[in-house]
Parts: sequence; C-alpha cells; structure tokens
Amino acid sequence: MRSISTRLILLTVALAMSPAPGGAQRPCSAEEHRHFDFWEGRWMVRAATGALAGHNTLSLTLGECVLQEHYTTPSGYERQSLNMFDQTRGVWHQTWMDNQGALLRLEGGYEGEKMVMQGETVDTAGAATLNRITWSRVDGGRDRVRQLWEVSTDGGTAWSTSFDGTYIRLETNSDWDLLIQGGTVVNGTGRPGFQADVAIVDDRIVRVSPAPLDPERATRTIDATGLVVAPGFVDIHTHLDPLLRLPGAESHVRQGVTTALGGPDGGGPWPFAEHLESASSIGVGMNVGFMVGHNTVRRAVMGLEDRAPTAAELERMKQMVSQAMGEGAWGISAGLKYVPGAFSELDEVVALSEVAGRLGGFYTSHLREEGLGLLQGVGEALEIGKRANIPIVLTHHKVVGQPTWGASVQTLAMVDSARAAGTDAMIDQYPYTASYTGITILIPTWAMAGGTDDLLRRMEDPALADSILDGIAFNIINDRGGNDLNRVQFALVDWDRSLEGQTLHDWAMREGLESTPATGAGLVIEAVRRGGASAIFHAMSEEDVDRIMAHPFTMIASDGRLTQPGEGHPHPRWYGTFPRVLGLYARDKGVFSLELAVRKMTTMPAERMGLRERGQLREGWFADVVVFDPATVADQATFEEPHQYPVGIAWVVVNGSVAVANGVYADVRSGRVLRRGRN
Ligand SMILES: [Zn+2]
Repeated sequence: MRSISTRLILLTVALAMSPAPGGAQRPCSAEEHRHFDFWEGRWMVRAATGALAGHNTLSLTLGECVLQEHYTTPSGYERQSLNMFDQTRGVWHQTWMDNQGALLRLEGGYEGEKMVMQGETVDTAGAATLNRITWSRVDGGRDRVRQLWEVSTDGGTAWSTSFDGTYIRLETNSDWDLLIQGGTVVNGTGRPGFQADVAIVDDRIVRVSPAPLDPERATRTIDATGLVVAPGFVDIHTHLDPLLRLPGAESHVRQGVTTALGGPDGGGPWPFAEHLESASSIGVGMNVGFMVGHNTVRRAVMGLEDRAPTAAELERMKQMVSQAMGEGAWGISAGLKYVPGAFSELDEVVALSEVAGRLGGFYTSHLREEGLGLLQGVGEALEIGKRANIPIVLTHHKVVGQPTWGASVQTLAMVDSARAAGTDAMIDQYPYTASYTGITILIPTWAMAGGTDDLLRRMEDPALADSILDGIAFNIINDRGGNDLNRVQFALVDWDRSLEGQTLHDWAMREGLESTPATGAGLVIEAVRRGGASAIFHAMSEEDVDRIMAHPFTMIASDGRLTQPGEGHPHPRWYGTFPRVLGLYARDKGVFSLELAVRKMTTMPAERMGLRERGQLREGWFADVVVFDPATVADQATFEEPHQYPVGIAWVVVNGSVAVANGVYADVRSGRVLRRGRN
C-alpha cells in the first residue's frame, strides 16, 4: 500500500491538472475507460536487449478516468505519474515526476490501437528536448506493449531512440512473485555473507535488501532464517548427453546447479544448432549451454584416422568450429586423451582454438596425459592458450597414478607463470580422489586407432598383442590403475551387471586368476571384447586434490553426467560435487571459506564462460538462486551407493521458478538454452 503522503502529492497534482474552470465535466466515457482498464495492473518493463528495466504498477484508485502509475527500477529510480483524459479538449495528459526532481508533461492520444504522447523537457542550460513516446500492443494482445521513446533536439525534425522496450503484464497483484526472507546472502563475489531479503519478479532479482522487506507484498515467501542464499551454481564441465532423455536434470538441480555447460572433453553435439533446438523445444530443468567438440569435429571430417589433417580437412574443421560458435557455442573443448583427439598434433588444436578464440570463446581440455605425462599435458594446454590467444581451462585437473603424486605443486606453478606471462589460464576440479571414464583409458592410444574393432584385430597379431598388454599393464602400474587392481572399480557394465561396483581384483578372483597388472591387462581386453565398460579409478592423492582446490584460479565443476536412481553405477560426483565442496571442503576441512567456495561455483565459471547477468546474486540479474543450510549441507552419494541425492540444499530457483522447494524437487523446466552472445 502506498503511503498517505505520496497519495496527497498525487492528489495535488491531479487538481492542478484538472480541466480549466468552466470546462464541462462529464463522466469518463466507456471508450476512454476501456483504455484505462487495459492499462490497470502490474507490468514488468524489459529493454529490447532483454535486460530488466523496471516495474510499473497502474491503478484507478484516484477515480474512473485517472490512471495512477508507479514505476521503479532495480537501481532505485522511482517515478509517479498521472494519466487523465481531458474531457473538454479531448486529449490525454500525462504528468511524470521522478525521485530525482524531474517533471515531464506529455499530451497526445490514441491513433488506432497505438498511443502517441509528446512533451518537452528543458534542461538547466535552457536547451529543449522534445520527447515522443509511442505505445503499441505487441501482436494485438493485452499482455505485451511495446514502448518506444524517441527524443529530438531540433524541434521534431530528427528523432533518435532513447528507450525501446516491452511492457509485460504480470498476473498477480503483489509487488514480488517470490521473497526469500531472513537468510545470509553469499552473493558469489567472495564478499562476506550479509543479512538480506531477496525479492524476485518473474525471472529477475529485483531487490537484495539488508532492511527486511514486507512479506505482504509478495505472492510467495521462503523463510531462509539460518540458511545461506547464494547464486545458483554454474557447472562448467557437465556431460549433458542424456539431456533429451532426462530434461529435468534432477541430479544436477538438486545439487543447486542452475546452469551447466555441456560438450566437454572434445565431445560437443553435432549438428550443433539442431541439438540446441531440440533441447529448447523439450524444455530443460536448468540453463544449459554447449561447447563445440574438437573430437566431434575431427571424427566428422576424418573418422578415426591417426594422422594429421590435410589442408582441406583442416579448413573444413575450422569452418565447423566457426559455424558452431555462430550458433551459440561458448568455446571449444578438446579431449586429447581420447580417440580421435589423441591423434592430433598441437598445430591442429591451435588452429581450431584460434577460430573459437577470435569469436569470443574459451578452450577447455581433457589433457593428453594426467599421469606420467601430466607436466607435458599441462604445458601443451598452456601453449595452446598462448599461441591461439584464447582463455583456457585445465579441466578436471588432477594428478593420476602414484609415481606422479605431488606434481600439483609444479602444475600450479606452471599455471601461475603462464598467467603472469599473459595467458588467461584457469582450472576446474571435482572434489574426489577417484576418476571415472571408459575402461579403454588404460589402453595405449596407438592401439585404439580406428576404434575397438581395430584394437581387437591388432590383438590377433601376437607381437602387437604383447605390446598392447604391456602398455595396459604399464598404465595399471603408473597411471589410472593406481598399481593395484582394487583401485579399478567397474561402474557401468552392460554385459554383466553383477560386475558393477566390483573391482578388477574382484573379477580376477572370480576367474581364479592372480591379482597382478598382467592379469588385469588381459581382463581389460576381455571387457572390451564383451562390449566395454566404464570404471572408477581410485588413483589420486588427497593432498593433490586439496592443493589444487585451494588455488585461487580453481573453479568447482562436476564432470558429472545427468543420471537418475537405478541407472548403472555412476561416479558419486554426478550427485554430490557441489554439496561436497560446501560441506566437506569448506565447512569440515576448512580448505577455504564458504564465501570463496561459492565464488568458485558461481562468479568464476560464469565469468569464464562470459555468461550475461548470471553467477551473482544481484539486483537486475537473473533469479537463479540456491538456498542451503551451511550447517548440514553434504553429499550422500558414495562409490558404493552412488544414487543418493545430497542433503541441505533446501531451495533451488531457476529463472525465478522454484525447482526445489524445501528439499522437494519439481519438474518445472524453467531452464533455458543459453547461446553465447545472445543470452
Ligand atoms: Zn574428461
């Protein structure tokens, strides 16, 4: 309810604007009333760019044909105005006053369904500006009106646009659709948490107010007493391939993730635009964006061939990268450990990354090696960043295999030096000491050229078979095998579900074999022969994980794949990454403050992607919000029992719609497909 004093001021203005004495007063005609009636209600005003400009409430409380208007913007600008029909002259008047002392009088009327008003303002130097404001119904409906505000400084000969936007009718009579009360706002910048109420209208945050806001003004309230209110998490490395089957993305949304970037490790979707279109048309539970994948592009142009591209092939690949960037890709991902990315030389990756970089994208890489060859792998990624002039991310950065443990000291120093020398390098990481991927990662890449059929053909040649088996045994000892068959745990095994959750050691025992790297190598080939498997590799040290996480340029990312209870045996990070960092690493182990943890999950990835108006809890920005309990937030998924949702994530709001309410998920699909440069 507006204060009485404001009403008095408005009444005074209303009297001043009354028709001249002697003018015949007649009741507002049905025709005029129809126009007023049309305007009554609450509107959101959006600039043509999509940004929230403000909110407008129009009411007829002062009389049948006196339309009172109150306009506010997220930055605190306010304007009161009165709209009246001058019965004697047959024209419409508007008088606007704002909280900066400006006064504007406009006159005009309807031209068909269009309303055109004009009025002059004079600045302190005496220069006059003519204002012309045109309102027109979008698509002839009642709920959207375009406002075009033009100005002229030469008396109306030349006009330029000062504002072009849309009024969007809001259905409720409340000021806010959602009010989150009494929580501690951790806004994503790293700034210490502070008490504030957060008000949301439609898909935007309109108030972050340290002073309590009146719950009567909100349609729905959330009591966040004792809870943290943060920007929704941005997962910069997500395997979104099951999105069309699991569009609600519950396993991600319940972690507090409101935006996820797909297409990592070289595996982006193709055809790019078509995939984004299907995701949009089905409706998604969180915002999603995609990278163009180097491996995808290479496979499309060159198949699985182990050679450098011809000039024509390289040109075609560059074209595809450029096309996907034009269709909204956020950058290029590489998976140099995987076929066919593993067959590419540095120059090829640089050439393609240059294209993505020039178009505003960034580069993210699953390094060529994360074990014995880790330092060269990091060096290569930094070199790509430098030569292609593109911001980079060392994704799911880790140190694999006992002989390499501790090398994060060097890799982080390399990142620091590269940054100091001008390469914009960042890191992302998941908070676990085990990795997850196809079991073929243990097989030397040369043996995988052409795919698994070619691998099995090579196995028929005794000499080749020996060196392949030796290569696998070497990787079991030095790389992801962790030098112990117990460290390789089957996750998804289509051909023998009973192996899921069991280790290579368990399988060796079952087959009556000794548990050695050599027998392990034979079993890996056997697994491939039967159709392949994914596995969890327990081959990282906690010290490296902690050290990498504490680095100021490390972000949190899940490297998880969308899943649902009952589907195979996933890595627990698919369910637990973000709550685990907040609970275990920030609260329990004290690796960093809660504020810094949130920053690593929000502002940092949002800025790396170049997301617009997301990643911070800030007035005017998108209402992607997570409300969690800092005392209880924790992951529940374990390597043994991975299908468990986290605890302590109480509320998740995606584009202003509540997707998790008091811990209960709802399939509201309020996410959007985000395209670089467009939203
Ligand atoms: Zn990867």
